[in-house]
Amino acid sequence: MQPLRGTKDILPNEIRYWQKIYQVVNKVLTHNNYKEIRTPILENTELFLQSIGDVTDIVNKEMYSFSDRGGRNITLRPEGTASIARAVISNKLYLNSKINRLWYLGPMFRYERPQKGRQRQFHQLGIECMGSPMPRADVEVIKIAINILKQLKLEEWHLEINSIGNLEERIKYTNHLKLYLYKYESDLDEDSQRRLKDNPLRILDSKNTKTQAILNDSPKLKEYLTTESLKHFEEVCNNLNKLSIKYYINDKLVRGLDYYNYTAFEIKTRGINEQNTICGGGRYDELIKQLGGPYTPSVGWAMGLERLIIIMKEKLEIIESKKVIYIANSKIDNSDIIWQLINTIDKYQIHFELDISNNSLNKQIKKANQIGSKVCFIIGNNEILHEYITIKWLETGTQQQVPICKIDNYIKYIKFSLKT
Ligand code: ATP
Ligand code: MG
Repeated sequence: MQPLRGTKDILPNEIRYWQKIYQVVNKVLTHNNYKEIRTPILENTELFLQSIGDVTDIVNKEMYSFSDRGGRNITLRPEGTASIARAVISNKLYLNSKINRLWYLGPMFRYERPQKGRQRQFHQLGIECMGSPMPRADVEVIKIAINILKQLKLEEWHLEINSIGNLEERIKYTNHLKLYLYKYESDLDEDSQRRLKDNPLRILDSKNTKTQAILNDSPKLKEYLTTESLKHFEEVCNNLNKLSIKYYINDKLVRGLDYYNYTAFEIKTRGINEQNTICGGGRYDELIKQLGGPYTPSVGWAMGLERLIIIMKEKLEIIESKKVIYIANSKIDNSDIIWQLINTIDKYQIHFELDISNNSLNKQIKKANQIGSKVCFIIGNNEILHEYITIKWLETGTQQQVPICKIDNYIKYIKFSLKT
């Protein structure tokens, strides 16, 4: 039996990276006053049709949709923002506070061609700052993304930003872009030809070199931006400058999702393949209203954790902590010494392993050495009879016999010696 195509088991030797990420983001986001939120993986299909838009790749080709036994149209969430917006509306979170700063981490589902850094079930970490129209909010979320990368010791990335204006400006621009591109229709790549009809803006981030050459002389989005959009963008840039956050303005950067306006940004690594975007985000002022909530200008981003982990593995070795205490024990099962001992180790929270192999004591002690334990507690027949434990320090070979009534103090000493 194999896992489904595009899905992966995260095995114990990899889970350390996931735990490290959770630890770091929980710390960074908590101190920036973002609150974790967990929404269901299943949502009504309608939510994504209404929010992401039916001309995007996600809705057109990538959604895992099905009808359940009650005939409801259900979709495994392909991204987080729509669900968070839905949760803010259905729980009326906007009543308690005008500003909601939220974060989430969990699996997302898209029916795509699996490749390195592209899976069908993948994970996103995302944050949403809801309720503020201020450019400072855009800068806050960008700064936090960068802070998280820094805390994870990742350095080889760059930030690209752009302004995609408001809907009105985009419609005007898109019409002119279309007129221009129709002249070169047969020279465009296949994907772009299709997009020309339903989502021309996305042609801008085509990876095809011929298409890109055609785009060089096309109308530019920024020429269609009016005062408000330009002012917002300028303030975002100014604030990034104040923070000494380096960025590149990429005037071809548009987000894959329909609901964005004004700021769009991506953080990319130097990866050689196409899967080099680790974080994508932007402002979405209309989404919550569009879904039936009050007008709530918002900004956020999502990071692909599988892609993050690919580069973390190259840069950051996370060493599994070694078992400190190994408990070798005799087969005789008429003593409660073992459980007394384990309760005491629990009390001091020391990493240990109880041997349950049913091997001879000698073999068990050998195992303790092999896995690099510091001390081996030996409970043989003699020990059980006379209520003591033999303690062997594996580095020096020193051996001591400690009466069970003194074991608490001894383990406290081990805990202390680990710290020094
Ligand atoms: P791409 O152009 O790579 O398909 P996207 O524009 O579809 O990305 P977003 O919807 O913005 O991506 O999602 C944010 C981030 O989530 C991406 O930058 C990426 O790191 C990650 N991501 C998206 N799709 C996948 C996937 N199928 N597998 C793994 N990570 C993904
Ligand atoms: Mg995609």
